[in-house]
Amino acid sequence: MKRGRLLPSPLPLASFLLALSFIALLPLPCQAEFEWETVTLDDEVYVSVDSIKIFYAFESAVSSGSFITLKNAKIELRIRLGGPELYINRVKFVMSFSARSHKGKYWISRTDQAKLIGPVIRPNLIRTTQRFHTVIIDPGHGGVDGGSKGLYGNEKVYNLKLALKLKAELERLGIRVKMTRSTDAAFPTLQDRVAYANRIDGAIFVSIHFNWINSTRARGIETYALAPQGTATTNDGAKPGDDRSFSGNSRDAENIALATAVHSHCVRRTGAPDRGIKRDRFTVLCGINKPAILLEGGFISNPTEARLIASDAYLTKLAAATAEGIVAFRNALSR
Ligand SMILES: [Zn+2]
Repeated sequence: MKRGRLLPSPLPLASFLLALSFIALLPLPCQAEFEWETVTLDDEVYVSVDSIKIFYAFESAVSSGSFITLKNAKIELRIRLGGPELYINRVKFVMSFSARSHKGKYWISRTDQAKLIGPVIRPNLIRTTQRFHTVIIDPGHGGVDGGSKGLYGNEKVYNLKLALKLKAELERLGIRVKMTRSTDAAFPTLQDRVAYANRIDGAIFVSIHFNWINSTRARGIETYALAPQGTATTNDGAKPGDDRSFSGNSRDAENIALATAVHSHCVRRTGAPDRGIKRDRFTVLCGINKPAILLEGGFISNPTEARLIASDAYLTKLAAATAEGIVAFRNALSR
C-alpha cells in the first residue's frame, strides 16, 4: 500500500502482550433482552461504558487520566476518552467513532460495540460463522505492478515471499491453500482476485502487503478489516459514500475477529510496534463474500524494518505467526 501523508507515529509496544483469550466466559445476557443505556450524539447511537461493563461481565471499571479500564479475569478493555483508540488485552484497535464523555458518563458508539467489541470478546457467538477448510492467500501487486518501492526491493516480491511461506506453514498444519497469484510475473487485477476468491467455498481470504510512507520513521504492523456500513475509514475520514453496504459487510463480525487473531499473533511473535487493527474499504475487502483481512506486515520505507523484511528468518517468523492467528480464529469460532 502506498500512503501519501504522514500517519501518527506508532505507540511503543507494551512490554508484553497478553494473548487474546477467545475463551467463553460467564453466560451473557441475550443482546435482545438486555437493556442498553443509550444516547444519540451527532446522529450516532452510543452505549454507555456502564452498560458495556454489565453486558460483558467486567468486574471493575477504573478511570485514570484520559483512559478508562474495564477488567475481568480474562479481558482488559482500555478505552481512550476523546479518541478512537481502544486496547483489548493490550492489542490496539482503531474504532470507527471516538469514545465520548456526555453528562458525566462515558460512551462508545453502538457500531463499535456491535461490530468490534462483541465479536472480538465473544467470537464464539458470531452468527454468520461458517466452517472453513481453505485459506485464500492474496499476495498484493505482482507483474508490472511492483507495489511500493522499498529500501531493499519492491513490495510485490516480499508479498509473494511471505505468501509462499504462509502457504507452506498452513499446508503443514493440514489447511488447504489457494493463491490469487503464485508467481512474480502474474498480475491479476483487484477484481480478478475477488472473482477468483468468491468462487471458492468454505474459505477465508488473507491479502498480504507491506507498507510504505514518505518518512523513514514509521514502522510496525497494521491489519485492516472492511469498514462497517455508515462509518469512516481509519485513514481517510468521513466521505459521502460511507453509507454503502458491500458484500464484505455481510461478514463484518468474522472480519474483525480474524483481523484480531492474525494481528495479535504477528505483533506478539515479531515484537514489531502495534499500529492497530484499522478499517478501510479496499477493493478486495469490499467485493469479497467470505471473512477477509488485509495485513500490512511492516514498513519497507523504514531502514530497520526493511532490513528485517528482506531477511528470510523474519518472513518465516511472520508467516508462522499469521498461520497461528488463522488457527486461533478457526478454534475460536468452533468453541
Ligand atoms: Zn501494497
